[in-house]
Amino acid sequence: MEEQVKVHIRVRPASQEETKSKDFRKCVEISDPQTLKLYFPRDTIRPFHFDSVLEENSTEEEVYDSTARDLVDSVLEGYHGTLFVYGQTGTGKTHTMGLLKKVTTKSEGIVPAAIKHIFERVKEGTVTLSFLQIYMENIYDLLNPTKKTLLLREDANSGIFVKDLTQVPVDDFSQAANLINAGLCNRIMGSTNANQTSSRSHIVLTLDIESTINEKTIYSKLTLIDLAGSERVRGTSSSGQRLDEAKFINGSLSALGKVICALASETSGHIPFRDSKLTRLLQPSLRGKVVMIATVGPSYASGSETISTLQFASRCKEVVSFPVLYDEESENPEPQLKIPSGLLEELEELR
Ligand code: ADP
Ligand code: MG
Repeated sequence: MEEQVKVHIRVRPASQEETKSKDFRKCVEISDPQTLKLYFPRDTIRPFHFDSVLEENSTEEEVYDSTARDLVDSVLEGYHGTLFVYGQTGTGKTHTMGLLKKVTTKSEGIVPAAIKHIFERVKEGTVTLSFLQIYMENIYDLLNPTKKTLLLREDANSGIFVKDLTQVPVDDFSQAANLINAGLCNRIMGSTNANQTSSRSHIVLTLDIESTINEKTIYSKLTLIDLAGSERVRGTSSSGQRLDEAKFINGSLSALGKVICALASETSGHIPFRDSKLTRLLQPSLRGKVVMIATVGPSYASGSETISTLQFASRCKEVVSFPVLYDEESENPEPQLKIPSGLLEELEELR
């Protein structure tokens, strides 16, 4: 079975700061629920088409329903699912994930909604949570900050995994929320302040599910990723740590771009997963069902970043994945078996 990566755009409402500015004007217009028209640069209009375009006033519930609900349903059928938010800093990635503030039963956003959705359906079985941060090509365990940086390992049985990553079984929403809240406090404080650092690292939350649903045992995994800000940080205005951070982010996001490009092109044989920690970690997930939400600001002033986000998002739309079902009828239904060894190579040949 073949499946296109689903790509959604979410437009952030103009901030007070933006609307106060005397030369504020909008450069995006949603002409129908799947089309965003970009008025940038001056005198050009470009339409972009996506699976959905979520307008400024869309609620968190609407966002969940159009982007994540089907994905989580697939995970509950036994497919691996990955959702990532991509976009310039300040466009609403963390807001969309629901991770700007502590997660509580009242929280909105994709992470709390997905966890609620999962626990509504998983009545027996195990849900295991892990939470990590990739900062300057180092992997940190957000559930155990005393650990040094973690290493990626690969073995025939479990595919790619993070060695020694803390994995905690959770029985309900509040246990999951408590871990996430602890993890959010453990984010690396970088050169300047927490907010800046969070925009310079990738945050990866994974829920492994082993459960019997509708009399079928499934072994699947939902990965939710808040990516680092996609903006280009200019070398000339940055120095030291800031510049190093920028190089790593540009490096890993451009590695992601190259992987997406290679996956999108029918002819390409080699997929450069190995170019960054992010792409290696995502390698098995990019073979499951994948959803991307690209966030953009409304204002003309951020037009050039908006163009590059929309172009990246358009490329992602071309990617085809081959989701594999992980249930009791799979060849090898061990819970730890994330991707059967040799499968990636086989898929590669099939392409
Ligand atoms: P990012 O993670 O992409 O850097 P944030 O999620 O931190 O961006 O959002 C930046 C600011 O914009 C925050 O103050 C957030 O509350 C606000 N914001 C983002 N998206 C929305 C939205 N859809 N509706 C209202 N406010 C939003
Ligand atoms: Mg953020």
